[in-house]
Order: sequence, then C-alpha cells, then structure tokens
Amino acid sequence: MDNLSLVWHRRDLRLDDNPAVHWAWQSGTVMGVFIFDPGILYSPETGGGKVEFMLGCLRELQANYRQLGSDLLFFYGDPPAVWQKIVNLCKPQRVFFNEDVEPLAIERDRRVKEVLRELGVEVRSFWDIGLHAPQELQTKTKEPYKVFTPYWKNWQSLPKPKPYDRPTRRMAAPQFSTMALPTLTDLKFSHTQSIPKAGETEAQRLLEEFSHPKKILQYKQQRDFPAIEGTSRLSPHLRFGTIGIRRLWQMTVEMEGDIRTAEERSSLTTWRQELAWREFYQHVLFFFPELAERSYQPRMRDFPWENREDYFQAWCEGKTGYPIVDAAMRQLNQTGWMHNRCRMIVASFLTKDLLISWQWGERYFMQKLIDGDQTANNGGWQWSASSGMDPRPLRIFNPATQAKNYDPDAQYIRTWLPELADLSTAELLTGTIAARKCQDRDYPLPIVNHNEQQKKFKSYYQKK
Ligand SMILES: Cc1cc2nc3c(=O)[nH]c(=O)nc-3n(C[C@H](O)[C@H](O)[C@H](O)COP(=O)(O)OP(=O)(O)OC[C@H]3O[C@@H](n4cnc5c(N)ncnc54)[C@H](O)[C@@H]3O)c2cc1C
Repeated sequence: MDNLSLVWHRRDLRLDDNPAVHWAWQSGTVMGVFIFDPGILYSPETGGGKVEFMLGCLRELQANYRQLGSDLLFFYGDPPAVWQKIVNLCKPQRVFFNEDVEPLAIERDRRVKEVLRELGVEVRSFWDIGLHAPQELQTKTKEPYKVFTPYWKNWQSLPKPKPYDRPTRRMAAPQFSTMALPTLTDLKFSHTQSIPKAGETEAQRLLEEFSHPKKILQYKQQRDFPAIEGTSRLSPHLRFGTIGIRRLWQMTVEMEGDIRTAEERSSLTTWRQELAWREFYQHVLFFFPELAERSYQPRMRDFPWENREDYFQAWCEGKTGYPIVDAAMRQLNQTGWMHNRCRMIVASFLTKDLLISWQWGERYFMQKLIDGDQTANNGGWQWSASSGMDPRPLRIFNPATQAKNYDPDAQYIRTWLPELADLSTAELLTGTIAARKCQDRDYPLPIVNHNEQQKKFKSYYQKK
C-alpha cells in the first residue's frame, strides 16, 4: 500500500510518549506489528506470568490502535524471516522501531535492518528505553563508565528529552488477514502467580498514585521497608514499555513545585537516582556485553561455588528456614514481584550463605519476575554477589539484621509466611524458632548456619 508505515513494537507496548509511534504518525498511514519470537518466548527464562502480563499489554495496545482506525497485527516466527513475509503482505514504505540494549536483541535488529533495506524498505530506529542512550555518556577520558557515582553526576547534569504526544489523528488503515492475539494456552504457557494488572491505563494510574498523594516525596524514608507500599511498582511497566520514561521524568519535574522540605527534595533525588541506576546497567551491558555471561571481577570468574541442588531448591521454594528470605521468595513466586530490599537480601543469601553461583539466581529471577530485565537483573545480581562493578565489593547481608532493620514488626514476614503468623516478632526476626514449633507449622529449620557460611565465603574470596 502507498505510504504505509509500520511500527514494530517490542518492549514499548504503548502509544503515548513513544518516539517510533510519534514519527510514524507524522508520515501517513500507520499500523502496528508485534512478532511472537519463539527464540525469546520459549527460552528457559520466560515464565507464564510474564507472558500473561505481556498479552494483557498487547490486548490494550491493539484496542488503542483500533480506536484510531488502525490495527496492531500479530505474527509468529524468527523476526528476519517474518519481516520478509510482512513486506510481501503489507508492502510498507517505512518501518519504525525503538532500539533495545540487550546483546541478542541488538544482533536481531541488525539482521532485520539488513533484510528490510535489501527489500527496499526505509527503516528508522529511535532510542526510547532510557532518557540517555548508552553512547551519550562517557568519562573525561572518553571511556564508558564503570562506577555509578560519576555516571550519576554526569547523567543528572544532562538536559532531559520532553515526552512525545499521544497520537490522536484517526486514519483508515487497510485490512490484512493475520493471526489473532493468541491466548496463554495457545502459546502453551500456564502459571499460578497472581500478577499485576497490565497495560498503558494501569501504568498511568500507578504513576498518578505515586505522584498525587505525593508518595514520591516520602520515597527516601519508605522505600526500604517491604511491608510499606513506598515504591512506585512501575517496574513491570518499564519492562514492557507501557509507560514512557520521559513521562516519568516530567512527573518528577512537576513535583519539584510541591517540595516543602529538604527531606522531600532528597526523596525526589533518590527516586531519580533509581532511574539512573536502571540506565547505568543499560550503559554497562551495552559496552561490556560479556557481563551477560560472566562476572565482571576476574577474581570471581572461577569462584568455587558449591552449587548444591537441594539448597537451591529450598531457596526457590522459600524453605530455607530464614523467615525474611522465605517470605521474599514466596512474594516472588506468588506475585511475580519482589521488593528491592528483599531482592538484595535473597541474592546475598543465595551467593554468600548457600554458596550458589549468582547465575542460578539470575535465571530464576528472570523466570519469575514480571519485570525481569536482563540489564537490571544482571546488574543487581552481580552487585549482590560482589562480582560486579562496585568499588566496595565485599558485602555480606546478615538476614536477621536486615529483618530487624527493615521489617521491625515482622509484618512483611507474617504476610508471606502465614503459617508462622502467631510466633513472636523476635522469633521471626532472628529466625531462632524451636524445632517443635517448626515441625508443628511444617516450616523447616535453617538449612545452613549464617556465621559459618559467611566465614567460608570469605575464606574462598580471600584466597582468590
Ligand atoms: C538481585 C536483583 C535483581 C533485580 N532484578 C531486576 C529486574 O529484573 N528488573 C528490574 O526492573 N529491576 C530489578 N532490580 C532492581 C529493583 O529491585 C527493581 O527495579 C525495583 O524493586 C522495582 O520496584 P519499583 O518499580 O517499585 O521501583 P521504584 O523504587 O519505584 O524505582 C523506580 C524504577 O527505577 C528502576 N530501579 C529501581 N531500583 C533499581 C535498581 N537497583 N537497579 C536498576 N533499576 C532500578 C526500576 O525501573 C523501577 O521501576 C533488581 C535488583 C536486585 C538487587
């Protein structure tokens, strides 16, 4: 068809604040495309909860296209081959998409660009997943950053892009017969998680909820307490791109007018810093793609991990006998999300107490987290395992101290371990629960001794 532009959606499942959509809408008739790529869909890291969330986002995105007289078309297969078919079927003049930062996605996009150009289709790609593309920031010696603090100083000093308007121009798009949006069962997935609501409308509601009762201005005081709803819960939406990063930044700029105290200012800065952490991990994986496969610190590359399967199983199921660890793993398994403080606690526990390789934990998180994202997940795991880019690498979390500091009334533990709800707060925080009480409640005794295990970890670490 003359003057048809296609927008290839991948991790940007929205119309608002979307550069590819915005520029396509300037160009003529627009339709959306989504390709179910079996290479990603059936990789061991894709869990049913995540797929269901994605299907929910796609359903709303298709309805939004249809409201404007257009449509979102679905295809299945290896993207370069599928694009040949799409070009034969739809005869587009242009294809627009937003770039990715993960090594395999970069390679896929390179192959697709090649195919499209050979077929004579114009291709335009944009940076969308962060406020700043990885190449926009470099050290004074023109190197990529390896340390967060100087990255953050530079990042926050740069002017930030404005959001793109949501398209409103209606159009009469052509009809093509392609596959319907599949169901979870069609894709041969199932899950037992009670996952969060998907889609653009929900992402905007969460943003409103975080900014309008001004939760963001108490972020610094509240964000470390897993029993409090003190964080934005936007991570699954950032992962699937149901909200634009420029909208989030704009919200923080608007909130500046509401700041009354130094504490409130500091909360706003801390939240912006989290957005910068996200981009720091994008930056480092872009420049050091080998991090996807191995530890950044050479001393950790041949660390003698013990990798006991039975300990790993207990950790996955939330049956280690350490209540704060088990509560967090149950939250993950049941909801597909885990509080950041708890992600750090369970990651430290897996690596430093159970002596299991961080890659095992990284993989499990990717299967279960709806927000599972290679850059943030790899960065978080390498930070926790002391194998990453951290100037102060060796830190070992004591689960009891963490529980006492961040869940002082054991409210979070009681929520996720209802079988222990009647025990005293002291028992839940320290994890010293009498054997008989554990047995009555079908709860395990601690599978390892924290003090002994951390000594063992340190001895292995110091020998390196
Ligand atoms: C071991 C480990 C694994 C992790 N895996 C992931 C993952 O797969 N996907 C993911 O999005 N986050 C991951 N994180 C980071 C963090 O835990 C989550 O982003 C956060 O808990 C999401 O909740 P929120 O949206 O309420 O965050 P908020 O506190 O409201 O923060 C806003 C946004 O900033 C970003 N962000 C916040 N903290 C971090 C951080 N430490 N690193 C990078 N980005 C951050 C997220 O996009 C988040 O949605 C991981 C952290 C650790 C320690």
